[in-house]
Amino acid sequence: MEKKKMSLAFQIFIALVLAIIVGLILGTKGAGFANSYIKPFGTIFLNLIKFIVCPIVLVSIINGIISMKDIKTVGSIGLKTIVYYLCTTAIAITIGLLVASLAKGLFPVLATTNLSYSASASTSFMDTLVNIFPSNFLTPITSANMLQIIVMAILLGFSIILVGEKMNNRVIEAFEVMNSICMKCMELILKLSPIGVFCLLCPVIAANGAMILGSLAMVLLVAYFCYILHAVVVYSSTVSVMGGISPLKFFKGMMPAIMFAFSSASSVGTLPINMKCVEELGGDKQVSSFVLPLGATINMDGTAIYQGVCAIFIAACYGINLTFPQMLTIVLTATLASIGTAGVPGAGMVMLAMVLSSVGLPVDGIALVAGIDRIFDMGRTTVNITGDAACALIVSNLERKRKSKK
Ligand code: ASP
Repeated sequence: MEKKKMSLAFQIFIALVLAIIVGLILGTKGAGFANSYIKPFGTIFLNLIKFIVCPIVLVSIINGIISMKDIKTVGSIGLKTIVYYLCTTAIAITIGLLVASLAKGLFPVLATTNLSYSASASTSFMDTLVNIFPSNFLTPITSANMLQIIVMAILLGFSIILVGEKMNNRVIEAFEVMNSICMKCMELILKLSPIGVFCLLCPVIAANGAMILGSLAMVLLVAYFCYILHAVVVYSSTVSVMGGISPLKFFKGMMPAIMFAFSSASSVGTLPINMKCVEELGGDKQVSSFVLPLGATINMDGTAIYQGVCAIFIAACYGINLTFPQMLTIVLTATLASIGTAGVPGAGMVMLAMVLSSVGLPVDGIALVAGIDRIFDMGRTTVNITGDAACALIVSNLERKRKSKK
């Protein structure tokens, strides 16, 4: 008889429980031991995440832009879709940052994090602006400068489209293959999550005791509050004003897709059922067959919220106050990062590494939230696909109106 394998989410959950138990047993006396002999294995896991994040950002943003190559052919549908996606993602990350900043008092400053942090020198807004643009092809990658990598990817992506179909055929195919390879590599690294979670969390619990658990519950609560706020305010209002559908009807019709997304934590996996829901809600098939797959690849409002909330939480744990320019950088990076986030479980956590490093926050802080990533992921995926569906219905309605005017 074939043995049934434990799901990764369940393995991570067990690792989390074990880390808590062992951490509490070791206590402050054993913190030194945990730091010297357990944490290094967690560091290996984090190193691997840092290793894969640059290629993923570069390749998947180029791929995302290439997949928009039909924008011209789909004309006004394409433009409306992109504008809606980018605006709602920017609103999502702003909500995440604002609410988490208000709730910051509830987050702890850890007594000892066992995680080192050296503040990066603060730079003026103009310097930050200039620094976004790379002056060298390789430095952005070797120094893992995320904003510069994003600029590179955008420039290269559009250039590939602009050289025309005759010349770019093979390159497009090559990027699709490279994208699959990067995704596979990420999947392999994420398989190590249970070990990573145990080895990273155990020393933190040993040093800080159980108090950290309460704050994890707090940060989850804040994230879910933002998810719901974003869905209720942004999707309800845009769907009823521009889509001509009552919010109640929208959420009721979306229930099957919402439940599937919540349990699978994968936008891509939810795509077929999302298409069906949108069609039943009156979406145009031609529109949704363009808008929904594109959304599953590049539109991640829930992920953006999660990144905002976690950035503030991790900063608070290190006793760091984020400045306004830093927050703006997060809005910019997370909005663009959502183009590069794959619609598969756990991808948002890998991208969090990039958002943190864009403002000089310690990537090690991921250790604090990695153990409960799946719970964040279920909520963020639900928001992600609901946003795609709202966009499909709105664009369908606007297109109908435009055609009837002609
Ligand atoms: N799991 C999410 C999705 O599929 C991506 C993420 O990890 O944020 O939409």
